[in-house]
Amino acid sequence: MCPPNARASMQCPDVSRRSLLKFGLGAAAAALALPLNAAQAATVRRTSFSSVADLTHVLGPGFPLFPGAAPFQITQAVAHDKDGYYGSMLNYWEHSGTHMDAPVHFASNGLFVDQLAVENLVVPAAVINITAKVERDPDAVVTPDDIMAWERRYGRLPDNAAVLMASGWGARAGSVQAFRNTDSSGVMHFPGFGKAAIDFLLTERRISGIGVDTLSLDHGPSADFAVHYTLLSTNRWGLENVANLEAIPPSGASIFVGAPKIAAGSGGPTRIMAVW
Ligand SMILES: [Zn+2]
Repeated sequence: MCPPNARASMQCPDVSRRSLLKFGLGAAAAALALPLNAAQAATVRRTSFSSVADLTHVLGPGFPLFPGAAPFQITQAVAHDKDGYYGSMLNYWEHSGTHMDAPVHFASNGLFVDQLAVENLVVPAAVINITAKVERDPDAVVTPDDIMAWERRYGRLPDNAAVLMASGWGARAGSVQAFRNTDSSGVMHFPGFGKAAIDFLLTERRISGIGVDTLSLDHGPSADFAVHYTLLSTNRWGLENVANLEAIPPSGASIFVGAPKIAAGSGGPTRIMAVW
């Protein structure tokens, strides 16, 4: 994030020198090699971007959940008129709304959500748009060919990229029925990543994680969750129900993945923002 030569100004997060180099901020990274005090370092890190987008759905009791998940509950605990302040109690399944799947969600020895390195949560984004084939087949998956088509147009996937599937499915998020798209035999139909694409990304490229605009990294009919198992067992993360992916450039944006820092968590509702 925080690319140079942009208009709006922001305070960059506390990124490492290596990250700054990765994002092309060579001068800032070089300056950080000097023995600066904290205030000076903060000044050096100040940079800018021209656009920001929120890739997060509003999470409330009506948001579609994977079948079988406990309902999202919010209960007002204190009120301005009675208590002088406002606050609520929350009870929810970690995998609700726009959320992170931490490695341990499917890998018994994987990282918990609080153990993810921040360097892997502020990363370049590559948006693979498969909307056209999803319109023909809701069970369509991202394939190695889709990734290579992206690369022919935009160049090789950047190291540490988040590879994000845009399928147009986010437009259905207002309806549980449309978002799950369950048939009469109980099988869901929505797009996701294919196992072959994950194998390609894990062996031929260096990614930090993947994201989808649907309920699951695996497509709806999946019974074996091969993508979840394969990806998460490498200590990479997944993002589900990502919003608004059509609003960011397919190449050149960076995302901030605001995963919760909850001890021994398997993931959780996550605020995701893109800048470019
Ligand atoms: Zn999940």
